[in-house]
Amino acid sequence: MQAREVGLVPFANNNRVLGLIGMDNCRSGKPIRPGILQAVTIVANELGMALENARRFAEVSQRATVDGLTGVSNRDTLDAMLIKAFATATTEATPLSLAMFDVDHFKKFNDRYGHQAGDTILELLGATARKLTRPSDQVGRYGGEEFLIILNRTDHHEALHFAERLRREIEKLGLLLGKRFPDTPLTVSVGVSSLSPTMENPRQLVALADQALYRAKQDGRNRVAGLPSPPA
Ligand code: GH3
Ligand code: MG
Ligand code: MG
Repeated sequence: MQAREVGLVPFANNNRVLGLIGMDNCRSGKPIRPGILQAVTIVANELGMALENARRFAEVSQRATVDGLTGVSNRDTLDAMLIKAFATATTEATPLSLAMFDVDHFKKFNDRYGHQAGDTILELLGATARKLTRPSDQVGRYGGEEFLIILNRTDHHEALHFAERLRREIEKLGLLLGKRFPDTPLTVSVGVSSLSPTMENPRQLVALADQALYRAKQDGRNRVAGLPSPPA
């Protein structure tokens, strides 16, 4: 049967319409009573408030887990993810690697172009890291201008390959930004570490990535270094 009557009740919050509840008399064929509209209005009001609460909750949760500047996971979230990733990799005997990267001579960049320009660079780096990673990887801001990427189910060889791709992509980005920021090429150094059977906790894996990063800096920056070194 065709609907002869249609009712629409908006649900809103703070005078902003979020949606409409629609009804018709297609099945019953009877007129829609005003009482029904009133009852639906009560539901619509509740719905408006519930949706607003859900939106606020999602916003607060997002703020608690995501780094406000770069949009990647914050340090606390990253630490928790790392514990989980380590536990999964050790119990399932699957590979796990980390890539830690740090901006080269970032202090110089800030000094020359200002902290705000530096912040823009960090935002771009967060976006680049997210663009290059798979959904199963996790990207986080480890410290000021240091990022850590958890490469789940990734062995050392694959991780080195990924890190090199990331380094090159950022170098390319630096060249594109070269007009805006001449004299201070944007590059990063990357340290890669991979799980070995003797490791007892995720901190050891992070410490190894940190050591590898230090080596990449020592060797001249804008490069990737990995530990433990893959067998020759
Ligand atoms: P290196 O190649 O050895 O890493 O040199 P560097 O200058 O990058 O290293 P250093 O540790 O001396 O300096 C890190 C700089 O990163 C200092 C600080 O001003 C900058 N930095 C840290 N966090 C932020 C941030 O949130 N925004 C901006 N704009 N700069 C930051
Ligand atoms: Mg640093
Ligand atoms: Mg640095």
